[in-house]
Amino acid sequence: MDIGCHEAYPGHHVYSSLIERDRVNALGQIEFTLLPLYSPLAIVAEGSAEYGVKLAFPGDSQLEYERDVLAPLAGIDASEIEGYYEVREALAGLAPAYYTIAAGYLDGTMTREETIAASMRYRLLSRERAEQNLRFMDTYRSYVINYGLGEEIVGDAVEADDPDRDTQWQRFSSILSNPLLAVKGR
Ligand SMILES: [Zn+2]
Repeated sequence: MDIGCHEAYPGHHVYSSLIERDRVNALGQIEFTLLPLYSPLAIVAEGSAEYGVKLAFPGDSQLEYERDVLAPLAGIDASEIEGYYEVREALAGLAPAYYTIAAGYLDGTMTREETIAASMRYRLLSRERAEQNLRFMDTYRSYVINYGLGEEIVGDAVEADDPDRDTQWQRFSSILSNPLLAVKGR
């Protein structure tokens, strides 16, 4: 569900659809027909796609949906899915280490080997995943912060003052169709 939500609903596909409707078609702002990858829009684009998973599946509903609907459809044994989610949640607390490690690597203060070792130690990645992650940093450079940090920024803006679900969706939609930096209270 992470990928489906991130790429389609309520992530990237919805973001582009709202931009097209509210910026390009409604206001004739043709510049929004382009979405430059490395741009200030990226943190909202990736952050909203990441946060959208939580918005679409509040509480335990993602786990329940995957366990009760998707796994049986796919013929996958989901008997350990609760444990998987516990690990996932615990690992999320390590996310900020990624920014520090990536900054060290991209600023040239850490070698490739030190970066791999730090990813294994502080993010608990396997060596294979740490190497794969390094290749992502090589290709996308500082773009890597858009996912975790973007999710935090969009989540804070949507959930400020603990609003009801309708308000959360309205705020989310407004963040997507008004491509400015998402801040609390907007
Ligand atoms: Zn994305």
